[in-house]
Amino acid sequence: MSEFLEGMMQDDFPLTVHHIRRAMRTRSPESTVKTHVEPGIVESATFSEIYDRIDRLARARRSLGVEQGERIGTFAWNNQRHFELYFAIPCVGAVLHTLNIRLFEEQLTYIANHAEDRVIFVDDSLVPVLERLAPSFQTVEQYVVMGGGDAGGLPNALRYEELLEAAGPGEFEYPEIDERQAAALCYTSGTTGNPKGVLYSHRSISLHSTATLVRDGLGLGRADRVLAVVPMFHANAWGLPHGAALAGADLILPDRFLAAEPLAGLIAAERPTLMGCVPTIFADLLRYADEHPEVDLSSLSNATCGGSAVPRQLMKDFEERHGVNIFQAWGMTETSPVATFSRPLEGEHDDAYWDERAKQGQPLPWVELRIVDDAGGEVAWNGESTGEIEVRGPWIAAGYFRDESAEEKFDSGWLRTGDIAAVDAKGFVQITDRAKDVIKSGGEWISSVELENELMSHPDVVEAAVIAKPDARWAERPLCCVVLRDRCDTGAEALIEHLRPRVAKFWLPDEFAFVSEIPKTSVGKFDKKVLRGLLAEDALDGRVQV
Ligand code: ADP
Repeated sequence: MSEFLEGMMQDDFPLTVHHIRRAMRTRSPESTVKTHVEPGIVESATFSEIYDRIDRLARARRSLGVEQGERIGTFAWNNQRHFELYFAIPCVGAVLHTLNIRLFEEQLTYIANHAEDRVIFVDDSLVPVLERLAPSFQTVEQYVVMGGGDAGGLPNALRYEELLEAAGPGEFEYPEIDERQAAALCYTSGTTGNPKGVLYSHRSISLHSTATLVRDGLGLGRADRVLAVVPMFHANAWGLPHGAALAGADLILPDRFLAAEPLAGLIAAERPTLMGCVPTIFADLLRYADEHPEVDLSSLSNATCGGSAVPRQLMKDFEERHGVNIFQAWGMTETSPVATFSRPLEGEHDDAYWDERAKQGQPLPWVELRIVDDAGGEVAWNGESTGEIEVRGPWIAAGYFRDESAEEKFDSGWLRTGDIAAVDAKGFVQITDRAKDVIKSGGEWISSVELENELMSHPDVVEAAVIAKPDARWAERPLCCVVLRDRCDTGAEALIEHLRPRVAKFWLPDEFAFVSEIPKTSVGKFDKKVLRGLLAEDALDGRVQV
């Protein structure tokens, strides 16, 4: 007769943010967090010093009256204080709610009220934005201003440093935390309807952080110096702050200095090995580096890019011209966010190698995915057939915070991602589109992502975003919105000739719009919703029929 024989391991050892916090003190007290605080000024603190400040902050919980499970908002750039809050808030049993400072005011109001934030920690540089919103927040009782700047008209504003000072020194006795307890909350920008809250647990953050140390993933290690450009108010900055703390890597934070020039200066001065950001920031940086060859960015041996498809040409140009290696990750707020990573086996950097580098990569350990067609059937992994990615694993969302409206996003234990992709026999995912961006022409799909990629491989093209244009005969046709490099006057015909050998004939666009800039979302992605709106209102400038 079979019996259930239980293993005899410490299976109840909780996977919590406490462990990551403790690791800073016990394993890498000398590692540092550096913040670009003012133009050209970088402040530094060791993990050991930060550990003590987190203790003080945890103790200040009493004076703030923060209870277990309460949501505590942050309205902040990437800086040391935000990093401290990443640990202090979950470790006292409360929930770190990172508000996306770039969202529209109505969305921020909705989110803070929906989350029922009780306290909001705000950077002094962002006070002017927040004070406009404060009257619309229904549950916020207290603001804590970080930095010495003006607290403006914020009601009940305390000072972060005064709070820490008053809290006094010494070890704090933290409450025990269940690994399933909520640790952090981040809202995804709703494509339809209101934004939805993804509620990370201590367990999901612990496991995702561990996965940032995996060599075939981000591959964070103690020797790394990690420049987290991806905002800490968006999907936990891809796990880089937690990962750096767990690995003992140095962390470099740019605060509000995100333009190419200060970023390049920070890279040249601080020599990060790893940096995470979206393609638009890398593209700005590449233009700057091309114009300023004296700025050395070559310390970046292991940069990570994601958030939208990473143009192959961008990665190649960086590697060939500046010695910077960029690898691609894919994920979403609901996947903590890293789910796949593209790190092909090293070898000759030939076309086959670059084909793999340009894909979104293989699922990380513990992440499982499948591709599902419209009829709900699984699609074969042959590198050709496409369908929607469904994903599951211990750091994938199982629902949304206080929102029953999104049940259709889940399919018996799998998350429907809304991304359309093919997977090859080695498990490398290639995203062809977001479901809502797909162009359906004469019953066939045209991949906007691939068209954009090919357009951006033209040396005169800086940005390209392709949207569907309603068409009486074909239902939809691609319309390519293109930003040309300064002083270039490349025409539609030249771009068609560039595309002709690269894509199927029916993919060749019949219309371009030469624009000065592609509108961007709050996290720097091409905002096709805005482009589609302009097209619908006949307000898209620079249109040229081919
Ligand atoms: P939002 O929905 O506001 O853009 P997310 O940051 O969660 O918020 O976006 C996740 C989406 O970004 C994914 O579903 C996918 O469409 C896109 N994405 C992320 N990484 C990549 C990538 N490497 N290639 C293509 N698309 C990507």
